[in-house]
This record gives sequence, C-alpha cells and structure tokens, in this order.
Amino acid sequence: MQIQPFSVNDGEGIRTNIFMAGCPLRCRWCSNPEGFEQKELVGWYKRRCIGCGACASVCPQGIGIGMEERSRCIACGRCVKACPEEARARMVTIMDADDVIREVMKHRLFYSYSRGGVTFSGGEATSQPEFLDYVSRELYDSGLSIDLESCGYFDFDLVRPSLERMDLIFMDLKHMDPEEHRKYTGVSNERILENIEHLGSLMRKPEVVIRIPVIGGVNNSEENIAASAAYVHDVLPEAKMELLPYHSLGIIKYEAIGKPFDQNEFYTLDREEMKKLRGIAAAHGPKIADYR
Ligand code: SF4
Ligand code: SF4
Repeated sequence: MQIQPFSVNDGEGIRTNIFMAGCPLRCRWCSNPEGFEQKELVGWYKRRCIGCGACASVCPQGIGIGMEERSRCIACGRCVKACPEEARARMVTIMDADDVIREVMKHRLFYSYSRGGVTFSGGEATSQPEFLDYVSRELYDSGLSIDLESCGYFDFDLVRPSLERMDLIFMDLKHMDPEEHRKYTGVSNERILENIEHLGSLMRKPEVVIRIPVIGGVNNSEENIAASAAYVHDVLPEAKMELLPYHSLGIIKYEAIGKPFDQNEFYTLDREEMKKLRGIAAAHGPKIADYR
C-alpha cells in the first residue's frame, strides 16, 4: 500500500513503515480500507479534482471522472500519470520484494543514527507470509532492527520464523468478548488470544506491546479495558499495553475507493477519558507504553 519513511510512532527511532495489503479482519472503523484485499487499486480524491477530464481521456476502460464505473478499472495507472492535481492515486501496487528492500535501504543511515529500523504494517503483513519471511530475513541479515504491527489473526507456526526476527511486536486486542469482536471485526478473538499467548514461546524474545485501539461505542467500557489488561498480564506478564484513541483520518480513503462509511457510528475519547482508561489498565498489572 505504501512505503513510508521517517515514521517515529511505530517503534524505536526513525523507521520506515512497509504497509502490506490484505487483511483477514474487517474492522468497521479501519483507517486503511484500501488494504482489505491483495489487489492493485487506483482511487479518486474528489476534493483535489478540478474536473479537467484528463483521466477520462486516457482511460482504456472508458471510466469517467468520478469513477462511477470503477468495477471495470484494471489499475493500469494511466489516469494517475495524466492527472495534473494528484486526484487519481495508486492506493495499492504490486512490488517485487527486492525492490522493497532497495527502497528501505535508502534510509539506512537514519536507522543507524536513531536506533530505528523497519516496521511491517498493513493491512496485515502476516497475510503475505512468504513475502514477510523473505524481506524480514534479508533485513535481519543486514543487521536492521525490524518490528511488526499485527491484528494478531494468523497461522502462528507459518509466521513463526518471521516473528523470531522481530525486535518489537505490536499486537492488537480489540475486544475481550468473542461475540462483540466478531460483530465489529468479522472474526472471533479466539485465534488472536491464542497467538498472544504463543508469543511467550518465541526463542528470541521480542518486546511485546498489546495495543487497544480505543473505539468510542465499541470497546471503551471500563470492564473491557480491565478484562483486557488482566488477561494480558496473566498470559504474558512482560508485555506492555498501549491504548490508542480512535481517529477518523481514514474517511477520505473510503471516499477515494468508493466505499461507504458511517461517520456517526464511532467517536473519539478525549484526553481525560483516555487517561482514565490507561490508569485502569495499569492497575491490572501491565506497564503502559506510549509510542505516539
Ligand atoms: S487506472 Fe487505468 S483503468 Fe483504472 S481508471 Fe485509471 S486509466 Fe482507467
Ligand atoms: S485528471 Fe485529475 S483533476 Fe482532472 S478530472 Fe481527472 S481526477 Fe480530476
């Protein structure tokens, strides 16, 4: 989806984030909806468009300015090149693994001076296990620090070799109630809970941060935060927790790819409410991390 250099929120130091498409979850608040599927995707940012028609004039599929016929799009990228306002944009691109490594290595100097490195993110990076294995092995063998951000829903044994190379693993825990988890993400939390427990079996011990994206109206009850923290401290006492407030920055991407999004379904907790929930989590044992 994107190779984003100079990130300082996703691990130690200055890092490059590799956002990989494909995800087994369908979180209703997701801020990266372009990454649901592993397929090339071109979007249209209506707010940037001046209606010049350059995109429509080069499209081999006869797709008009507003992309109403987007189901016919073959992601050839001609409109992206033709658009003078960057209103058409590649949202997901197929890249060769070696090209990704070359891109990441351009910023190697920044990693070494800041104790930074590379963070695999998504979408869900583990949904491309062979790619993750190859790229993480090459970067690890080059001496880079590598981290992973994951929804936690993956085949642990398949991904284990990649996990063993990580310095830091961020794993999401979105709800302790399996049915509420299914209602809002499309899957039960059982596999995610199992994988959190399995992290303790890794030979090369990574730092682990269990992240709760705190979504107002979904998982922000004091009971859920307390139960999550107690669980984490019980099964993985050395793990830290991070509570991140929901943000609605992804709305513009829903517009760009033509997916509906109900802005009123979720809300963002204010600073005091987040502070209270972090206090509740800490009271149940885990240390609280803050990478934002
Ligand atoms: S990516 Fe290609 S097929 Fe899709 S809208 Fe643009 S020009 Fe048309
Ligand atoms: S080329 Fe770009 S600015 Fe012009 S109509 Fe198409 S999307 Fe809008």
